Amino acid sequence: MAEPNDQGSFSDYPFAATILEDVAAAGYQAPTPIQAAFIPLALAGRDVIGLAQTGTGKTAAFALPIIERLAQRMEMAALVLSPTRELARQTATMFNQLGRSSGIRVATIVGGAPLSDDWKALASWPNVLVATPGRLIDHIASATVALGEVEVLVVDEADRMHDMGFMPQVRRILEALPPERQTLMLTATMPPEVERIARRHMRDPAKVQIGRRSAPAERATHRLFLVKSHQKDELLVHLVGEGEGRVLVFVRTKVGVDRLARTLRSRVRGVARIHSGRAQAERDEAMAGFRNGKYRILVATDVAARGLDVADIWRVINYDFPHNPEDYVHRIGRTARASASGEAISFVAPRERALVAAVERLTGQSLPLERPPARGRRRSRQRAARA
Ligand code: AMP
Repeated sequence: MAEPNDQGSFSDYPFAATILEDVAAAGYQAPTPIQAAFIPLALAGRDVIGLAQTGTGKTAAFALPIIERLAQRMEMAALVLSPTRELARQTATMFNQLGRSSGIRVATIVGGAPLSDDWKALASWPNVLVATPGRLIDHIASATVALGEVEVLVVDEADRMHDMGFMPQVRRILEALPPERQTLMLTATMPPEVERIARRHMRDPAKVQIGRRSAPAERATHRLFLVKSHQKDELLVHLVGEGEGRVLVFVRTKVGVDRLARTLRSRVRGVARIHSGRAQAERDEAMAGFRNGKYRILVATDVAARGLDVADIWRVINYDFPHNPEDYVHRIGRTARASASGEAISFVAPRERALVAAVERLTGQSLPLERPPARGRRRSRQRAARA
């Protein structure tokens, strides 16, 4: 759950009673800072840029004003662009949860799923469509989706879309939409290309940014271990075994995810893996199993885990230190959601110290390096000697 705000309550907004019911049922007591800043502007019809990371409550910040606008309406008047399938699915779930009593009908169209799923989804009279850009372009090209009634567009995690090379598709989608519309953008950072899109396609956007205090990266406890690569597996097994909570492990490459998951499985139970090279059904199974407790440990690449919203992640472990400092912040956003504060543990190879300095500059936090705990070190020396 995201961090609540001490000022205001949801009933201060002109929301329909059905929305307030669903908000209460979701257990939200007060708006989070990004919601308090974003919702009034969005309700007033303004274009808004919300500078916020995952874990701050940003999804509900754009979903609630859309639900208010579309309550009980038939037309497909809202389109949400998500960088990944997982985020698209989670966003749709949020609309279903908060829009249940308001007649919100969501469809999701994402790459990797069979086209027949999309046709079924589009034929169900959705009033909100959540899509990944590539798949939506396919439907625009084959005229199998009608966007002529879209009044609100959301570009979610715009910086991530940019990193994933989706900006040309996003631009094409923007050009296919009615020009008279409200555009909402959510992004953790503002790369120049995202800024250009905002200037070109948004009308006098209001910018809201939440205070630095609520950034998940600052709530987590950070521990960094200076390790050589042959020590990593042993230390990981040790750290995973120190408790019973959920652990998310980041590895840089797909091959690395596969290898590490295999190694871990021979030592601990409940290991799943997720990366973009796996079939959609396999990714869904891994995600669902991680959420429902079948798996306690999820080994993932950055792209696959982006936007993943699982409550109560105990430890996020950077098995490979991220090359891009913003990825560090995104990864840590997976833990330390509000009340539950998590632990962020990173393995740093000696030649990666400069990468740590880059993260320190970005977050303004100092991240001291520790030596690995003696047990992990001793065992890894024994293993290395045996090998
Ligand atoms: P997000 O930043 O959209 O990924 O949201 C992170 C988590 O915060 C989700 O699990 C939401 O259900 C939860 N959340 C959103 N708004 C609130 C709120 N006002 N109070 C408590 N939790 C919230």
